[in-house]
Amino acid sequence: MSNIILESIFLKRSQQKKKTSPLNFKKRLFVLTENKLSYYEYDFERGRRGSKKGSVDVEKIVCVETVTPENDPPPERRLPERKPEDFNETEQISIIERFPYPFQVVHEEGPLYVFSPTEELRSRWIQQLKSVTRYNSNLMQKYHPCLWTDGQYLCCSQTAKMAMGCRVVEGKSRSFRSGRSLLKPEKPLPPTPEESQVIKKPLPPEPTTNTSSRTRKVVALYDYTPMNEQDLQLQKGEEYIVLEESNESWWRAQDQNGKEGYIPSNYVTETRDSLEIFEWYLKNITRRQAEELLKKEGKDGGFIVRDSTSKAGKYTVSVFAKSTGDLQGTIRHYVVYSTPQNKYFLAEKHLFDTIPELINYHQHNSAGLISRLKYPVSSHQKNAPSTAGLGYGAWEIDPKDLTFLKELGSGQFGVVKHGKWRGRHDVAVKMIKEGCMSEDAFIDEAKVMMNLSHEKLVQLFGVCTKERPILIVTEYLSRGCLLTCLRDSRQSFQATELLEMCKDVCEAMAYLESKQFLHRDLAARNCLVNEQGVVKVSDFGLSRYVLDDDYISSVGSKFPVRWSPPEVLLYSKFSSKSDVWAFGVLMWEIYTLGKMPYERFNNSETTEHVTKGLRLYRPHLASERVYTIMYSCWHEKPEERPTFQVLLGLIIDLANEDP
Ligand code: ADP
Ligand code: MG
Repeated sequence: MSNIILESIFLKRSQQKKKTSPLNFKKRLFVLTENKLSYYEYDFERGRRGSKKGSVDVEKIVCVETVTPENDPPPERRLPERKPEDFNETEQISIIERFPYPFQVVHEEGPLYVFSPTEELRSRWIQQLKSVTRYNSNLMQKYHPCLWTDGQYLCCSQTAKMAMGCRVVEGKSRSFRSGRSLLKPEKPLPPTPEESQVIKKPLPPEPTTNTSSRTRKVVALYDYTPMNEQDLQLQKGEEYIVLEESNESWWRAQDQNGKEGYIPSNYVTETRDSLEIFEWYLKNITRRQAEELLKKEGKDGGFIVRDSTSKAGKYTVSVFAKSTGDLQGTIRHYVVYSTPQNKYFLAEKHLFDTIPELINYHQHNSAGLISRLKYPVSSHQKNAPSTAGLGYGAWEIDPKDLTFLKELGSGQFGVVKHGKWRGRHDVAVKMIKEGCMSEDAFIDEAKVMMNLSHEKLVQLFGVCTKERPILIVTEYLSRGCLLTCLRDSRQSFQATELLEMCKDVCEAMAYLESKQFLHRDLAARNCLVNEQGVVKVSDFGLSRYVLDDDYISSVGSKFPVRWSPPEVLLYSKFSSKSDVWAFGVLMWEIYTLGKMPYERFNNSETTEHVTKGLRLYRPHLASERVYTIMYSCWHEKPEERPTFQVLLGLIIDLANEDP
């Protein structure tokens, strides 16, 4: 069975393959794997997948886009008219039962219409679907923004289901990391009067080539100094044109003077996503992290705009106010609401076309907020991320560019040192002891691993293979190993910080899962902590190159038995679900502040214990809900364990709740 990438309950519109088949909408469990998009009946009572109702081969998908909502949908597919929190509890349930956000998956038999309960979930699915279909041969250049209903498309009145689309598909698929773009929600606008007049008549078929001349503009989020002669310099806030993005991490681009070169794709954002260029915007932080930052800053009127994770697809403005005599200060969180006409408002009904306009207004008027928005608090948080390699195409590093500082520790492959690359960039260097690693196989794989790039993964920068010992050069994290940090009795962690650590790791793992890359040795000892306390996952996939029987064999003394599920211990069957099991154990390590799992047992007793169905106990610091999450990773059947995507959703929900 191939790995599940996404799994959600949506409303599915019948496909009306025959003219006579009725139009209906049914709740179905949609499951996306690398090869198939399938939908199943769902047994809500038992919380289980029922029988399969249909599927589409991923390779036959030609377009994935949003759909303009219907004109007068029934309540089930309509946005609530009041704000969600104005509903009482029983009514809240009926909101959850709403599916107001449609999208389309067009395949050889026409469009499949799917309705999502939230905008966030819809963008996540569209993004993943675009990602798995990006190499499909016959992707459409144009699509229909509106539904095909009663024998015609509502956007252009064409009657053939396979008629050429009337709107050009915007941009290309974005990389996973660049996240969702929501300056304006991605609802396609209905055609303008002129547009619909022109397209009322069926269009003659157009040649599908030559439409890619559209230019894609991006804005630099950080300065970037070229690391080799192929790179292009980036200046924060400047615009660039993307010329080519066949490599996910390095795009060929042109600056405003016409100069061309490669840029790190994680240093820019699409012009229309440009919330990221504002210093008040912090994309990926939880409610608690926002509160912490605001308190630390302690300034009256300090504020942060962040993605609201409890209200998917929306933004939240967090504000700190402090009056004389009020030592603690008060924090308020305001959700930015949008009207069906795509206007935004905050505490009062002043409507704005864009979020920056709304923020600008409230920087001058408190207008219902506890304070005017005076100080953006997020700016100093925005450190430039690591690039996937030290310059475009540079995976072989010249050892002359490295200087060594102090020794950081030693591991399976030998000594690890802190160093500098060209005297400027901090790096960690693993010096591979001879005979420890199957080097040629690793060097081949290193090129693949270099392209794995995510803010919660320890970045591989490159290798030195021309001399012995070979060196592996990675991102440097100043606080070192997570396990050591957890065990350090001088530190005291709050439960919320522990959850934050789990979230960091889960984000990295959801990324690896989306790349179908297995870690194979996930544990607290293989995670590192940076200066800001962010946890990142390290040593992914490396265990495959270890030459040490004690480490490789599942009965060997160094095999990670305590992090392995029954199917690995019994049949060496690795999958991303065996990584999920290990993640559960890693959560347990975090919540026990670094205890050894099954500490009273030796390895073979642990195997016996686990295969009998016994599991780790609930750590004192873990709430019932946290324990439920880690426990779900230890389901005996791998297919019953949640995916990292699902786990991440659960952890984020928990992190956003009030303590
Ligand atoms: P191995 O994976 O070869 O067994 P490790 O990755 O465990 O070796 O490295 C040994 C020690 O070196 C770690 O426990 C950690 O303290 C330190 N270390 C390794 N990589 C880094 C890094 N990128 N940044 C900071 N410290 C590191
Ligand atoms: Mg290690």
